[in-house]
Amino acid sequence: MKKTPVKKNHYDVLIVGGGISGTALFYELAKYTNVKSLCLLEKYEALSTLNSKGTSNSQTIHVGDIETNYTLEKAKVTKRTAKMVEKFCLQYALEDKIMFSHQKMALGVGKKEVAFIENRFNEFKDLFPYLELWDVDKLKTLEPKIVYTDLEQTKVRPEPILAMGTDTQYTTVDFGAMSEALAKQAQEASDTLTDIFYHSHVEQIEEQEDKTFKVTTTKGETYTANFVVVNAGAHSLFLAHKMGYGKHMGCLPMAGSFYMTDGHFLNGKVYMVQNNKLPFAALHGDPDILAEGKTRFGPTALMLPKLERYKPGTYLDFFKTLNFDSKIIKIFWDLLKDRDIRNYIFKNFLFEVPLINKKLFVQDAKKIVPSLSVDDIEYADGFGGVRPQVLDKEKEKLMLGEASINPGNGLIFNMTPSPGATSCLGNAERDLKIIVDFLGLNYDETQFLNDLTE
Ligand SMILES: Cc1cc2nc3c(=O)[nH]c(=O)nc-3n(C[C@H](O)[C@H](O)[C@H](O)COP(=O)(O)OP(=O)(O)OC[C@H]3O[C@@H](n4cnc5c(N)ncnc54)[C@H](O)[C@@H]3O)c2cc1C
Repeated sequence: MKKTPVKKNHYDVLIVGGGISGTALFYELAKYTNVKSLCLLEKYEALSTLNSKGTSNSQTIHVGDIETNYTLEKAKVTKRTAKMVEKFCLQYALEDKIMFSHQKMALGVGKKEVAFIENRFNEFKDLFPYLELWDVDKLKTLEPKIVYTDLEQTKVRPEPILAMGTDTQYTTVDFGAMSEALAKQAQEASDTLTDIFYHSHVEQIEEQEDKTFKVTTTKGETYTANFVVVNAGAHSLFLAHKMGYGKHMGCLPMAGSFYMTDGHFLNGKVYMVQNNKLPFAALHGDPDILAEGKTRFGPTALMLPKLERYKPGTYLDFFKTLNFDSKIIKIFWDLLKDRDIRNYIFKNFLFEVPLINKKLFVQDAKKIVPSLSVDDIEYADGFGGVRPQVLDKEKEKLMLGEASINPGNGLIFNMTPSPGATSCLGNAERDLKIIVDFLGLNYDETQFLNDLTE
């Protein structure tokens, strides 16, 4: 028999946004707490049509082993949350369906980067005992295209190269499919009422006198809830601003695009040494699990004056969410003062300009595959998404990671740029604990830790 809310359209917890963050929380609450009723409101016709969609992001489980912008301390945290993704997929036998194992490496090119990789390997090998150091001879067999400058594979590239990597780990996930699995398992997991409503574009959230929240969609439908979590990507800050929260923040949407080769170029993930000023800015190459194994290079980074890629509108939402004033100008000015950042922004703008983009992009991607030519790649139309980077107006700087606003009254707003898909279950765990405390729910932490952590 279909379960219905005790009070019409009233739920214990209501989640706005059906991407990987929203569905991860939906799953954890349904499976591990005694919450009675949950509602997920999604603006579009399906889950994960924006950044969590498999073709929108790099499909990588960012563990911290080959992400050279992570410190050892940070990697200890990301290792745990990344494992949660793996454990979820294994629990429901999703390996080789939506989660895959590829070889992966961080590649150093040139003397300085080679020394960096060697040091980093020594620092990280205890945390990640499966990591190996791969020299040029090993790489000739594992990933020949990164070694040779010619197609016949007779000429070895002149610069020294060294990689740290592994071929024993799960590396790749279709996060769109994973959000569908999370929602399905939530609905099958428990006695909880788990309603999902599509075409439900939340326009307004209001706190009511009785301390519950009224949520109104653009079609005029209303819902009430004791707790509301907004996992609406860049729109989380948009909705927070409407309620007067997070006014010290602005959102800078950074679009990321990809280039695709016609055939198979790489056997696994090849990440490069990152520039600390620009985390995740260095290109990587890897086989795409949704494009017949073709190799993808990217992502690029371009500021886009809209909050959603490949969807109409949201220009006005962008201007409102940017929260433009002299402090935002100061943040931009400080960023543009740095030559590395300025050149990076300019170059990435050119990567999107037809006719010259391929030529310029190939020059950069040649650092990964020296024999790559303009004829080998195409701009991957329809691929890529938007990273909602947060500008902190109090600290006057660009925040590089995720941001969460928790006013403590039964509301949470989350902004999750990269690597937000990997941290979905970890972020949901943080929010679950806040919700459990606030609503006085029971939480089966032992089962949670048993199922999702090592
Ligand atoms: C180019 C690129 C590469 C990336 N690579 C990786 C990677 O390799 N690994 C990794 O871990 N992460 C990666 N990321 C980051 C990752 O994709 C995001 O962190 C993650 O998808 C965010 O999920 P989300 O659910 O928070 O947001 P989204 O996926 O954006 O979902 C938000 C949802 O909210 C809905 N919504 C919005 N507004 C409303 C509203 N008003 N009412 C109702 N619903 C609403 C939207 O329709 C959408 O379904 C990458 C991102 C980009 C752009």
